[in-house]
Amino acid sequence: MLAAGQSTKPHMAATGQDPQAGDKPPQAPQNPPPPFQRWLDLFIITLMFLSLATLFDTRGSRSEEIPYSEFTEHLRNDQVASVTFRGDRLSGTYRVEIDQFIEFSTTLPPIEDAELLPLLVEHSVVLEADTAQQSGLMLVLLNLLPWLLIIGIFVVSSRMMRGGGKGFPGGGMFTFTKSKARLTRGEDIKVGYDDIAGLKAAKDDLGEVIDFLRHPEKYRAIGARIPKGILLIGPPGTGKTLLARATAAEAGVPFFSITGSEFVEMFVGVGASRVRDMYKQAREVAPALIFIDEIDSVGRARSSAAGLGNDEREQTLNQILAEMDGFSGDEAIVVIAATNRPDILDTALTRPGRFDRKVMLDLPQRQARLDILKVHTRKVAMSDDADLERIAAGTVGFSGADLANLVNEAALLAAREGRDRVDNSYLERARDKVVLGELRESLLNEDERRRTAYHEAGHALTAYHMPHADALRKVSIIPRGMALGFTEQMPAEDKLNYGQHYLEDRIAIMLGGRCAEQLVFDEVSSGAANDLQQATVLARHMVKEWGMNESLGPLNFDSPEQSFPGHELLGGRAYSEHTAELIDDEVSQLVLKNEARTRAVLTDRREQLDLIATALLEKESLSDKDIGALLDPATEAENSVAD
Ligand code: ATP
Repeated sequence: MLAAGQSTKPHMAATGQDPQAGDKPPQAPQNPPPPFQRWLDLFIITLMFLSLATLFDTRGSRSEEIPYSEFTEHLRNDQVASVTFRGDRLSGTYRVEIDQFIEFSTTLPPIEDAELLPLLVEHSVVLEADTAQQSGLMLVLLNLLPWLLIIGIFVVSSRMMRGGGKGFPGGGMFTFTKSKARLTRGEDIKVGYDDIAGLKAAKDDLGEVIDFLRHPEKYRAIGARIPKGILLIGPPGTGKTLLARATAAEAGVPFFSITGSEFVEMFVGVGASRVRDMYKQAREVAPALIFIDEIDSVGRARSSAAGLGNDEREQTLNQILAEMDGFSGDEAIVVIAATNRPDILDTALTRPGRFDRKVMLDLPQRQARLDILKVHTRKVAMSDDADLERIAAGTVGFSGADLANLVNEAALLAAREGRDRVDNSYLERARDKVVLGELRESLLNEDERRRTAYHEAGHALTAYHMPHADALRKVSIIPRGMALGFTEQMPAEDKLNYGQHYLEDRIAIMLGGRCAEQLVFDEVSSGAANDLQQATVLARHMVKEWGMNESLGPLNFDSPEQSFPGHELLGGRAYSEHTAELIDDEVSQLVLKNEARTRAVLTDRREQLDLIATALLEKESLSDKDIGALLDPATEAENSVAD
């Protein structure tokens, strides 16, 4: 069961509701072949097919080749029905059964058979003759066809090689070494800095690049050197691609975009030639902006990763470095690369003159989350009651992409239920779905439901009364994801640092469910396993790493690399057996101390525990307001009037 504020957030892919949604699909740079060339290619291909068809037709003819002697025998037996003379060849039909005829052909003997004609007349055979000229032409054609076929294949494939496969469906296999970068013209990118919420520092940093791309001559005149490469560093979904696209749009320059992995193929050298090709294309249309996403897939430290494909990756990286060195100050090309693993990048990439400008993109804080929600709800029909502030407060740890996805989920839910506007309930449902998982059918019997209600009420009541705890947001006994119920809190501000009192209150709240079960049912259940695990891990961190224990003092016991000689004898620990025992004792003391606090809160307020549990059994979900109204009706009523 999920205890206070422990909701884990699955990572999501961005979908819909994206300011970029109106963009044209990125197109590859294309030079369509002239119509004449296309017709010629078509003609050659048709000829090849015809040749093949004729060959098969001729070779596959059903006529049976028989010796001349056999033909004369059929003739004497009165079986031959008709014959046609064609040069030194003779073909026709002979009867095998009453109504069954077989086509045959044979070669006439070099010495004229004087008996043949009288025999044919005698047996009343129908005679025909083909002119010798036609047969010769056919023979010549038949002999030429294989050659025509070979020449055709050669011409077509060499044209494909030269033209990079353009004009052929799918581009053909000869596009292998061509850059896979997608090119979008600056004016076609429908996303600008207005569509990016937050990220102020990053936008300021890139403002200089925009000015350079717009007016390169201004910078050249004064001799200023603009960074050639900018590295965007941030967790997934924080808007790195979005920022790069918007930068190209603001500067009004062509935007080449590619991911690092698209360079690398099975064959060594392909990646490097793709890099060369991409830079060549960019130079042709400069000023331009090149965006390389996931640069770490080609740019990881050269010596660090062994294994297959290393040569190819190294060559690709070397080519990127060579191209960056090859830029002269006159070429207004800026390369923006993105990564969420700056630690593994080759130092050659980040040295001055290459990707020397680093721009950090962090997960958005509360105000930035609110702004991102506003950007993404712009294009959605929202109802007036939508409380974006509350959603922003309840989405700690969400990236911009997660928030875009949440808004889209809410819109999908509303549309599915036939609504024409997205109201707050849809936003809340979408948030719960993303944070806590899909709704699950309850398989609990009445006793288990009652136990779950008391368990969650225990968490909620402890959270409500602990002095340093975050405010309650929601309590529910509706099963979601892996949990049978959950209690959720909402910090007033995003926290980057946690005080000792706050952490102790968290341990107390985690134990609230188990304590409530013990108090009401006089036993504990296995349902608290997750709570116990989290409480123990937190207590261990406090004691071992954060110096939050008086007996052990301000020491960190979690860095084996700083250990003293001989620590291997201690199983990789950097401390003695005695200290290990002390740590175990102190961790357990810390948990037990807070369990006692929790028990005191619940025992003293048993009637409040019953109130919450009963309300949960009735309504299944309670908001912070519902709990306020239950536990402190007077204050809640005052707050409601003030609202
Ligand atoms: P990855 O590292 O996974 O490639 P990324 O950092 O490049 O991710 P983007 O692809 O730029 O992330 O972001 C995905 C989507 O998230 C964007 O298209 C946009 O809809 C939304 N988004 C992210 N950050 C912001 C923001 N600051 N303002 C508005 N929308 C944002």
